[in-house]
Amino acid sequence: MTKAAQQNALMLASLLGVDEAKASERLARAVLITAPPGEKAEWAFEIGELLGRTVNVRFAQAEAPHPEVELVIADATPRTGALHLYADLGFTNAVAALHPIAGLSGRPHPLHAAAAACAVTAAVVHTVVGSESLPQVRLPMRLDYSQLGIPPGSLDRPLDIGSGAMAGAGAIAHAFLRAARHVDLRGELTVIDPKTVQAGILNRCLYLREEDIGSDKATALVTRAQPDFSELRLRAHVGDFKSYVRPLPRPPETTFVTVDSRHVRRHIQGEVPRRIVDASTTDARGVVIHSNVLPTDNACLACIYRHVPEEHARERSIAEGLGVDLADVRTGLITAEIAQRIVRTHPAIVAEDIVGIAFDSLFRQLCSEQALALPEGRQVLAPFAFVSAWAGILQVVEMLRSFAGMKETNYWQVDPWNTPVARARTLRPRHPECQFCSKPEYRPIIHSLWG
Ligand SMILES: [Zn+2]
Repeated sequence: MTKAAQQNALMLASLLGVDEAKASERLARAVLITAPPGEKAEWAFEIGELLGRTVNVRFAQAEAPHPEVELVIADATPRTGALHLYADLGFTNAVAALHPIAGLSGRPHPLHAAAAACAVTAAVVHTVVGSESLPQVRLPMRLDYSQLGIPPGSLDRPLDIGSGAMAGAGAIAHAFLRAARHVDLRGELTVIDPKTVQAGILNRCLYLREEDIGSDKATALVTRAQPDFSELRLRAHVGDFKSYVRPLPRPPETTFVTVDSRHVRRHIQGEVPRRIVDASTTDARGVVIHSNVLPTDNACLACIYRHVPEEHARERSIAEGLGVDLADVRTGLITAEIAQRIVRTHPAIVAEDIVGIAFDSLFRQLCSEQALALPEGRQVLAPFAFVSAWAGILQVVEMLRSFAGMKETNYWQVDPWNTPVARARTLRPRHPECQFCSKPEYRPIIHSLWG
């Protein structure tokens, strides 16, 4: 089994409460995709690409004569007697159902089609895994694109983001750029990440290829994604957010946050970027979107990701699992000196191989059983590709809303196993104990920078 497949198996094992081998068996089940020729075949391919990161996808019947599930796109004729799941999309909505779908017409915007691919992938993963322990999927599932809340007309005009920054080059950063290629983005975006590509992330970083393992995450993403953008210049910064921001005359106007730590999120807010557009995933169960523009009277990123007791529990399990101190884990990255200490309790590891990687990543690789056994362990596990893909799409939507000046909401929690619900958007207030916006010393800084 590849490391990427193992990450999926661990996530599923944790969700189902079974062991890794049983989870792997479920994820090895085949899905056959049957599509009609033409433009819907492109959409079928997009679904296949996303779905194939989690389960075993085939387009040729000879390769899957007896699939577990056959996904039938639009008006295609089923080719097997397997359980059929039908999916189709039109100009205003998309549907996944257990019976043939009629009445959808018109060609959707490619960003809508990408969102529909996420929704259908969730339905297929649920059907093929076939367990009551997974989050519920309600079929038929209908995605009305209007529920995404994209400001009218914003998909049809260019958007200049100026000099933007992207904190993190992991799964959500990949998903953001995959979705953003459908928008006419202009300006410059610097992708910031100090880490190198580990094999385990190939199941969800959609731009990466096998040969990128070992290279810098930021550079690999920028190199692979640039051909998708003609007017947006991508740059890479190999280092942390602070090392990027500090030499600049002022913090970036717009920062997209895709890192996987609450602690790092609070630090990014502390560097005082004017606009933050943030997306995160909670294991495989939730996607959270937040945005703010300084100065604001409402929640900032540090209000949303305040320090919580579970953070300690998670850091403690990682520290215990790897045999290091809590303070080491809080630094985020394994240094040469820490690597030497880890090798003492884990003699099978070569110290040089783990320098510069995140504690989370190593913990996932080494301590899978421990991660499964602990309630907080699930937070360390990696979500399925479609969950990260949803996060990237919704982050693009939030960017469009923020640039359109929409301030009536700043927070959206979305269930990636079902379709987004517009009325679930909320306006989160400022937290009185926030370590950024409740501190009086930040106020003059915010005002001198951003008025
Ligand atoms: Zn705050």
